[in-house]
Amino acid sequence: MKDSAKDKEIVLTGQYLGVVEEYLPDKQSTYVKDGGIYATKTGIVKIDKDRRSIKVLGYQEEDRKTVKIGDIVIGTVLFLRLYSVGISFATINNKIQFNSSYLGNVHVSHISKRYTEKISDAFQITDIVRAKVTSQEENEYSLSTEGNDFGVIHADCSICGTTLGRISPDKLRCERCGNVENRKLANDYGNVAESLKY
Ligand SMILES: [Zn+2]
Repeated sequence: MKDSAKDKEIVLTGQYLGVVEEYLPDKQSTYVKDGGIYATKTGIVKIDKDRRSIKVLGYQEEDRKTVKIGDIVIGTVLFLRLYSVGISFATINNKIQFNSSYLGNVHVSHISKRYTEKISDAFQITDIVRAKVTSQEENEYSLSTEGNDFGVIHADCSICGTTLGRISPDKLRCERCGNVENRKLANDYGNVAESLKY
């Protein structure tokens, strides 16, 4: 009898993982043949001892459990404070982070290369923002939106909820109600290819 795969072992597509009497096979990352469980992709074995289940995680899914300095994140503005804005990450380096509990802060001094007087002139709650990770303390990440590539990439009108259109480097206008709002905008505001629906 062949050896079963161990937790955190790296396996290749088609590799034998164990038998169905031993583990509950994951439908996406494994297949069953003659009572044996095999990997449908190359990755890292994840065994849940309590549920007796087995699955294979892709390298990227495993990688995305950590955030590193220099990573590019896209997230939603959760709250505004006096001197910073809180952002929950939806993607890290373009990989969707569904069960994200990562939170970052952009301090008022790292919003723009220019002086920002008020946080609310740069961001509003529910804006979608692209930022760079600059440092980490425990589970809190410091972010920067300095530079043309970073800042708000999607914003809705705070009065009527319509998506705002860009009218100048730092101003947005609502076509529906005429409301004008300020933001620290990324240069591709309104033109972002990345999926923004999570
Ligand atoms: Zn409006």
